[in-house]
Amino acid sequence: MAELEFQDLEFREENGKVRVNFLKIFYFYFTEEELADIGPCKVELHKLAFNCPEKRANSRFYNLLEKGFSAMKNSINGRKAVYIHRNSGIPLMGSNAFGIVDRNTSCIEVKPITGCNLDCIFCSVDEGIKGKKSTDFVVEEEYLADEFRKVAEFKGCEVEAHINANGEPLMYSRIVELIRDLKAVPNVKTISIDTNATMLSRELALKMRDAGLTRFNISISGISPGMFSKMSGSNVTEGHVKEIAAYCAQIADVIIAPVWVPGINDSEIEKIIEFAKSIRNPSQKGPFVGIQNFLSYPHGRNPVKGMEMDEFREKLSALEKKHSVKLLLSKDDFVIAPAKKIPKPFMKGQTIEAEIMCEGRFPGEKIAAAQDRNITVLNCKKESGRIRVKIIRSKHNIFLAKAI
Ligand code: SF4
Repeated sequence: MAELEFQDLEFREENGKVRVNFLKIFYFYFTEEELADIGPCKVELHKLAFNCPEKRANSRFYNLLEKGFSAMKNSINGRKAVYIHRNSGIPLMGSNAFGIVDRNTSCIEVKPITGCNLDCIFCSVDEGIKGKKSTDFVVEEEYLADEFRKVAEFKGCEVEAHINANGEPLMYSRIVELIRDLKAVPNVKTISIDTNATMLSRELALKMRDAGLTRFNISISGISPGMFSKMSGSNVTEGHVKEIAAYCAQIADVIIAPVWVPGINDSEIEKIIEFAKSIRNPSQKGPFVGIQNFLSYPHGRNPVKGMEMDEFREKLSALEKKHSVKLLLSKDDFVIAPAKKIPKPFMKGQTIEAEIMCEGRFPGEKIAAAQDRNITVLNCKKESGRIRVKIIRSKHNIFLAKAI
């Protein structure tokens, strides 16, 4: 008898198939025949017991698992999902969507997952169920933490680990472990997270704080009845988010971070400032409201034209006086300093060879790998193998290329 046990996999028998849930929100299926082909199989929640020699069970099951992962989907939005792990060969630096982003400062961005449970009408990355992307990514926790450690060590100064997914990071079921492992890096001073807080409970918030999280950046762009739902493009109401934001402010720093979308939520902004004041913990140093100007992005949702930056800053200045709250924020408010640049292996305009690794976020895109970087290749017809590409963007070690 061979018993194979997995912490992150759940097995459930379902109409002649076995559904495999991975990290809570991802899934794929095995047929009963595929499992029986390995040996008579007993299915338990986190365990498969095969009545066959262990060696046979292991080798055959891991082949089957690989096939399952290649067909994995995200249960929240139905998209195909790619698991990026240490053995996948996909480097974690190179994309703005997953892994690690360094913008030459002491703040290192950590992106464990893509996809969102909301559909904000102004979403700059067009996330959520209505988004036009075809693929999501989820990164192995240990791999992400190890790569982060290398970048933090390279920086050699005190750093902030800033968890800011292209989407909602609380969809990542290993978020507490990730925070704990980021905290274990000696020069990590601050750990912050951008979240819509809809999936946050008191219990989870406390676990995150205890693991080392120092600040919740909570996005609330509508606070009066009906406005949270309107802004988030969902049925979620403001009650839970207000309650959990108030709780978080008791246990850690909190910044309430609305996006000001002119003509849509103008009347909400002052209410949100007052809400942030009402929950503020007097022991918190630094800003507790971070209003962002709505900006149009080519791949984002653009319901209106944004305000000019000068106009936005004038309005914030007037609101600062009216509400006696600091609203015009800069990097200095977050103790972010310029820091050692991670070397870029390629420059814009350069032609290189890379290996195609998986689908990209949009239809027609592929993720390729070369020299410890991942590269998003646009309009890539090839499915696998090596490819010649021309780099068309290389800023901050985020690489975009076109196939040639
Ligand atoms: S919560 Fe953030 S990522 Fe999600 S849809 Fe809204 S703006 Fe986009």
